[in-house]
Amino acid sequence: MLCTILGAPGAGKGTQALFLKDKLGVPIIATGNLLRDAMKAETELGKSIKDAMNSGHLVPDDLIVDLVSKRLAEEDCKNGAILDGFPRTLAQAEAIDKIFPVDIAISIEVSDEEIISRLTGREICTKCQATYHVEYNPTSVPGICDRCGAMITRRNDDDREIVKERLVIYHSETEPVKKHYEDLGKLKIVVGQKEVADTQRLMAEAVGVKYDNN
Ligand SMILES: [Zn+2]
Repeated sequence: MLCTILGAPGAGKGTQALFLKDKLGVPIIATGNLLRDAMKAETELGKSIKDAMNSGHLVPDDLIVDLVSKRLAEEDCKNGAILDGFPRTLAQAEAIDKIFPVDIAISIEVSDEEIISRLTGREICTKCQATYHVEYNPTSVPGICDRCGAMITRRNDDDREIVKERLVIYHSETEPVKKHYEDLGKLKIVVGQKEVADTQRLMAEAVGVKYDNN
């Protein structure tokens, strides 16, 4: 199953992607990581991406699609994957559907006010990128990742105005992508809950797998 998770920064995409990865047994493909790896590998594609980034521009859609489709062609994606941070634009969505059609697009929906409050106090694992929140989803041992035992660190993007700007950009980019999948009958809306486990239950329902809380 090829699944994409849409959601504003702070909606819990990372946490839910990890949950689905365990449930579905398919890898997570996070565009941010792919971009970093490609630039390090110094391939032709990596160099083009580096040029685009160094010039201060957004990486063009066709380069991103190229990068993601190459990754999806790898052996470990033969049963599908979870896309995190992709497709970000309508052009990306239309292009990937011609190569690797997305089966389900899950939009995790959380109100902007809630996002703003969540993003204050957000923490991330320095190793496995699992996300936590000092109030809503704390680690069992303060400062230590429950998943892998590495150190967690406070995220630095807590400023309200910056968060508001990011939300405006998020909505303007994502609405056409959502509409695209809605028209194809592939959009599932998951309303983000206060408790992570409650959102997980809805995620399991969206992809049609059994939910057991362990
Ligand atoms: Zn970790």
